[in-house]
Amino acid sequence: MNVAIDGPAGAGKSTIARLAAKKLGFLYVDTGAMYRAIALYLLWDDTDIENEESLKKALDRININIVYEKGVQHVFLNFQDVSAEIRSEKVSIMASKTSALQPVRDKLLDLQKSIAASNDVIMDGRDIGTNILPNAEVKIYLDASTDVRAKRRYDEMKAKGESPDMESIKKNIILRDEQDMNRKIAPLRKAEDAVLIDSSDMSIDQVVDRIVALVNKAGEKA
Ligand code: C5P
Repeated sequence: MNVAIDGPAGAGKSTIARLAAKKLGFLYVDTGAMYRAIALYLLWDDTDIENEESLKKALDRININIVYEKGVQHVFLNFQDVSAEIRSEKVSIMASKTSALQPVRDKLLDLQKSIAASNDVIMDGRDIGTNILPNAEVKIYLDASTDVRAKRRYDEMKAKGESPDMESIKKNIILRDEQDMNRKIAPLRKAEDAVLIDSSDMSIDQVVDRIVALVNKAGEKA
């Protein structure tokens, strides 16, 4: 079974998808992490991303691998585990910029589709229900207000011992939403047949239970 979860930055997709996947015994696939790994390489390499030829050459040098250890996804960039490095704000912004480029999206399309073809997955991202898994049995569009999303990101960074700045977090979220929703290729949109869940006033458990119930219902029908 394939479950697609899309939504804007900081809506809680990864936390919720991870917990729901654990309850259901599904594989959780975080596609954002793949875009982040590519962005990290392009930053390290200082690639001129406006130049299609240098972008394509750089992409040819990139090998992305997804490895699951005890159900936790690790992203390897050219055989180096970059799961922690890809979480910085700098990489978030670069990922949002570079994910708008066709060669970058082409590079990840097959990888994402093939994981979903051979596993029961909950896959989260921006274009999963609309583009990657149009036939997913369950599609969710997970949203929350900008303030709630910024506050969650702030708390998350605080918990990691960082010293976040609320205003810049909010600015970055708005910028990424803008870019992700308005790009020409595979923009963030709610698929017509996706269930909208606004998590602004819901607890994590409530959202997880709602998704598990939707998946179980779809399973009964199949
Ligand atoms: O979900 P996350 O915040 O980790 O994603 C980082 C960036 O990767 C997003 O802002 C978006 O631009 C891009 N992305 C995408 N399509 C996906 C998943 C992520 O364009 N399926």
